[in-house]
Amino acid sequence: MPPAAQPPRPTTYLPTRPNPLTYQHIRVCPECAGPVAHNSGCVTCRACGWGRCG
Ligand SMILES: [Zn+2]
Repeated sequence: MPPAAQPPRPTTYLPTRPNPLTYQHIRVCPECAGPVAHNSGCVTCRACGWGRCG
């Protein structure tokens, strides 16, 4: 009996992965919940020093 052909994946399927745009609209630091500053596409926490770019 031949193996059944696998059905095509739905076009709506999206893999779970971090979204780099997440850091562009955050208002508070994910580490200490302090206020963050946005500079040239980077997000920096003034309270604890946490930061992300992209
Ligand atoms: Zn912080």
